[in-house]
Amino acid sequence: MKFSVKEKMVIAASGFIVIGLIAYYVVNGIGIKMERTPHETSGLFAMGSVISQKLYGSHSEVEMDAVANEAFTAVKELEGLISWQSESSDIGRLNKAEGEAVSFNKKSYELLKQNLAVARKSSGAFDPTILPVVKLWGFDPPHAQDSSFSYHVPKIDDIHSTLALVDYHKVITDDAAQAVRLGAGQSIDLGGSGKGAACDAAVEVYRKNAGISGGMIVVGGSSIGLMGEKPEGKSWDIAIRDPRGTGAGDNLAIIQLKNCFVSTSGDYEKFFAEGSDYYHHIINPRTGWPSKSGIISATVVCSNGALSDMLSTACVVLGKDAALELLKEAAAEAVLADDAKNLYITQGLKSGFSLINESYTINYVQ
Ligand code: AMP
Ligand code: MG
Repeated sequence: MKFSVKEKMVIAASGFIVIGLIAYYVVNGIGIKMERTPHETSGLFAMGSVISQKLYGSHSEVEMDAVANEAFTAVKELEGLISWQSESSDIGRLNKAEGEAVSFNKKSYELLKQNLAVARKSSGAFDPTILPVVKLWGFDPPHAQDSSFSYHVPKIDDIHSTLALVDYHKVITDDAAQAVRLGAGQSIDLGGSGKGAACDAAVEVYRKNAGISGGMIVVGGSSIGLMGEKPEGKSWDIAIRDPRGTGAGDNLAIIQLKNCFVSTSGDYEKFFAEGSDYYHHIINPRTGWPSKSGIISATVVCSNGALSDMLSTACVVLGKDAALELLKEAAAEAVLADDAKNLYITQGLKSGFSLINESYTINYVQ
């Protein structure tokens, strides 16, 4: 089975977590509450990704299981609203509506509005109307999961004609009717925010449950939602993958986090090489080509999952200076890696940061 290469940004498989896992099965058998050892679920699939969850708290194992199921159901419901591959989802209906207004569910409407807001704030570096260009390169999920399909560089004329469809300004929203209308020929992909939004949905469920003191959801390895903290006030150890590493266990650094959302975008997630050139799935909406800003990996931490997901994509497109400005405006923290092995780490992540791959140079920035 071919999973998205995105899973290669990894949650820290720290000794603590591994030991916790073993201990969980022991206490589980005798029905002890899950205060010190997490209740774990993994192997479920949504948003084109493997979902795993870890829950701590005063609940019994059975109650924890119910919370994990409720969180997964909330993620599947969101997927049902926003997946563009589903013709009956709000986005699927919008993409087929040929410029007619389509009424949306409250959640999908809010997420679309949030996408448009980030598009504006990033001056279009993040643009949810990028789908036709993503498809042209074959980086959309049906192709990415089809091993017989090979990515390829499109014809220049095709890039230009398709790029003319990409413009978030042409998406018209109507708050009163909770309805959306696209410009002629346009289509939308919320793939740049779906995994982070899934984390929001799960964490909302954790927060409603007084018996949960700490919860973590990992969506495809690239977006993580963290509610509360681990036992004894401990932070969660989150590993950032080395963008030029050889695999999932090849980490660049570890950051310690509590009660926040974190997403990573990188040029190593879906890519191909042709001749001496390297092409990846994060497209610069100005050019229609994979971004070449110098930033090859962006990990963004903030108080909202969808936002962390969109900002991480935007940072890869924008490059260091514009990315740091956008992050400041959004009150988000980040670790950016460039193609010369420089790391740019914002002040808010300084205290919990540990470098693993010492061939990178650390720069702390405002
Ligand atoms: P991520 O891996 O979170 O950075 O999201 C990448 C996905 O977002 C791609 O697979 C595309 O579906 C979509 N995408 C690519 N480039 C952009 C862009 N500039 N703005 C918005 N979405 C994008
Ligand atoms: Mg993203």
